[in-house]
Amino acid sequence: MVTKGLKLRIYPNKQQRQQLAQNFGCTRFVWNQMLAMLNERQENNPKSSFLNAYALNNLLPLLKKEHPFLKEAESTSLQVTNQHLIAAFHAFFRKEKGHPKFKTKHAFKQSYTSKFVHGNIQPVGDHGIRLPKLGIRLPKLGILRFKAGQRIPETIKQVTLSRTPTGKYFAVLIVEGENQAFPKTSKTVGYDLGVKDLLVGSAEGLRWPTTRFDHGLACKLRLWQRKLARRQRLAKKAIAWDHHQKLPVPRTLADFKNVAKARLQVALIHEKIANQRADKLHKLTAQLVKTYDRIAMENLKTKNLLRNHTLARAIANQAWGELRRQLTYKCAWYSKELVLVNPYKTSQLCSTCGYDDGKKALAIREWTCPQCGTHHDRDVNAAKNIEHLAFG
Ligand SMILES: [Zn+2]
Repeated sequence: MVTKGLKLRIYPNKQQRQQLAQNFGCTRFVWNQMLAMLNERQENNPKSSFLNAYALNNLLPLLKKEHPFLKEAESTSLQVTNQHLIAAFHAFFRKEKGHPKFKTKHAFKQSYTSKFVHGNIQPVGDHGIRLPKLGIRLPKLGILRFKAGQRIPETIKQVTLSRTPTGKYFAVLIVEGENQAFPKTSKTVGYDLGVKDLLVGSAEGLRWPTTRFDHGLACKLRLWQRKLARRQRLAKKAIAWDHHQKLPVPRTLADFKNVAKARLQVALIHEKIANQRADKLHKLTAQLVKTYDRIAMENLKTKNLLRNHTLARAIANQAWGELRRQLTYKCAWYSKELVLVNPYKTSQLCSTCGYDDGKKALAIREWTCPQCGTHHDRDVNAAKNIEHLAFG
């Protein structure tokens, strides 16, 4: 048995949209309260042992008493928030991520997660052709309509409900199912990740270029980003003027419709770009898990990922992250193996004899090993080293 994520576009009605907004607010509130508490605790007594999610859950009744609006929230979603917060701290302790941050109302994506308890999450309606309007019953919200044509398995473990900045709603169900193993090929491969070429494989000819999203979208994005910046600047000036005039009710940023419009346009273009990238990568990762039994890749450090010096680099970073995410879950589904290795020295060791030829400037794309005389393509050699490191 494996767990899978199933993404559904959902169509909440007006009341459900209000409930969702309220619940997003409640989980955000709990996150911020608990984070403030943990920060303070750490400050007052740095040697105190770190709390677990269970301990945070025990604080929830008190918090609800103090802030009665929290009683309106779906109760498991507040527990999941505690779990996520503790997980975020552990990732920080392992140096994989930065320190957990406070969440603002204007977060890029709003979401909360409910756990399956006592049949609170159930698919409803006829799964036949005659009733295209399928629904899913969710705690507190009732029945939500979703896009027809998808079948929901009966064993649902949890559901994450989210709203994108462009106003679309999604439910991601974590379901259990049989894993569909692809036939074994007994082939292994190593991959080096790059900026110009997204992937270079350990055998000649395995090269996958980084797809820069199309020129039209890039231009549009720059245009709207500039418009947004200008409109925000003007709006802030106007607000400052209101304050200067001591108006009884000064305007806020929310009063400027043109700012909101520009913000929406930017979000829409970002969404389109992300979708294009994910589609392309789905084709690539499907091909990889079909062809190889074992895939080795370098383990990307978040530190490197966070340094976006150039646009090309930023685009490559996003592609690497998505690639790794897709490969991780697809390998699990299809009973294949993904091994992440430390890329230390992989571009300077000779993959034939192991000779260490020293650090190489990025401009050097090819070199000849002085010990065994093998002529190397820099990236292919690195990919071969990655494969050796993972599978010997
Ligand atoms: Zn050599």
